[in-house]
Amino acid sequence: MHELALMQELATLIAEVQARERFSRVRRVTLAVGALSCAEPSALRFAFPSAMLGTCAEGADLDIMPRPPKAWCWQCLTEVEIAQRGGPGPRCGSEDLAVRAGDELKVEALELV
Ligand SMILES: [Zn+2]
Repeated sequence: MHELALMQELATLIAEVQARERFSRVRRVTLAVGALSCAEPSALRFAFPSAMLGTCAEGADLDIMPRPPKAWCWQCLTEVEIAQRGGPGPRCGSEDLAVRAGDELKVEALELV
């Protein structure tokens, strides 16, 4: 399962931060998940507890903050929110869009005990 692999990467990342920052436990993990990231929030939630077993984030809560996709429209010369990759742009209907945000999956915050 793709999401389980992502959560195992997250466990590795948290372990690296712990080695650097020397905290003991993580109470809450906040993840920013872009709508274009191909990661299903419910599957991430499902995979999270087992991926965190035996780490400093075992038993932590997981918060997922959805991120709307954004693109630069070369017709309007402005940033627009898009529903999916490849347009059309919501303002002018142009397909001349460059995706700028929405495919990210990153740790937004770690709440420590
Ligand atoms: Zn436009």
